[in-house]
Amino acid sequence: MAAAEVYSLHDLERWSEATAGINPPLRLAVCGDPVAHSASPPMHNAALEALGIDARYTRLHLRAEDLPRAFQLLREIPFTGVNCTIPHKLAALELVDVVDASARRAGGVNTVQVTSDGHLIGHSTDGPGFSRAVREAFGGQLSGMRVAVLGAGGGAGRAIAMQCAFEGAAALALINRTVEKIETLSSEIRREFPLCEVSIHPSDPAIIADPLARTDVIVNCTALGMKPGDASPLPTPLISSRHLIYDSIYTSNRTPLMLAADGAGARSANGLSMLLHQGALAFEIWFGRQAPIEVMRAALR
Ligand code: NAP
Repeated sequence: MAAAEVYSLHDLERWSEATAGINPPLRLAVCGDPVAHSASPPMHNAALEALGIDARYTRLHLRAEDLPRAFQLLREIPFTGVNCTIPHKLAALELVDVVDASARRAGGVNTVQVTSDGHLIGHSTDGPGFSRAVREAFGGQLSGMRVAVLGAGGGAGRAIAMQCAFEGAAALALINRTVEKIETLSSEIRREFPLCEVSIHPSDPAIIADPLARTDVIVNCTALGMKPGDASPLPTPLISSRHLIYDSIYTSNRTPLMLAADGAGARSANGLSMLLHQGALAFEIWFGRQAPIEVMRAALR
């Protein structure tokens, strides 16, 4: 039997039957709603094949109400692990047995490790994946950097802002369309990382011009740029040639923000490298060995 593109909770309930004859067996998955678009299966399957690991990675389409039962079944089948994507990262925090420090910082779980005795450990590789991606794209460390996070009120924005503070960023300008959504995050960062200078701003160009002028790295964590025809989350006049621009969006090679950065002569990168590195870090958690980064990168392309 050939593997299906997407499986459901109903399939998980009768996993041996639903996946009979599939070899290597399906032992890893990304769970989300929607999930059909996920680029994680080709990336992980290329790595599993390259290292001769007897397991493959698939997609689980799970609705929010399916998640508690699905997490129980992961222990019993047993799976090696799963990734969680929209909208399950937050709910997964409550369904795992152990939440590690990375997931607590990110406020969500993107990687679940199933231990040999059926325990679930929740991790987040989003922030560390972003850090590796910035190092790869621009050759610098987050330590000492002044970083502005556009869309700091969302899940990716929080994970990235916390990672920057954790790694010793000198300053964080948290920017969000709905400014109320970043008040709690800013208090948390001030409490946990008192050396990091934190400010919060609504995403109004007249207001953010000043903090951006004092920023080294600008990160887009808004959804602006995902859909064709979207505007840039920042107009070119707010970007200077010394800014490093990281757009977490990976659905296009040159996102609207990257085009705006081109207009200002600034260096920029899209979110494909963050997707790659968060995936590689998840692989390392599951298998305790280095992920074949170049194999995974080629599969993503
Ligand atoms: P999310 O939790 O839904 O957050 C969305 C964020 O975008 C919020 O801050 C929201 O502001 C803002 N936003 C949405 N529409 C906007 C608009 N029209 N104008 C201004 N701001 C807008 O989503 P998420 O999971 O954090 O994902 C956010 C982005 O990160 C997506 O583009 C996603 O592709 C990217 N991402 C990339 C990776 C990677 O590996 N490269 C991983 C995760 C996420 P409000 O709070 O005001 O609504």
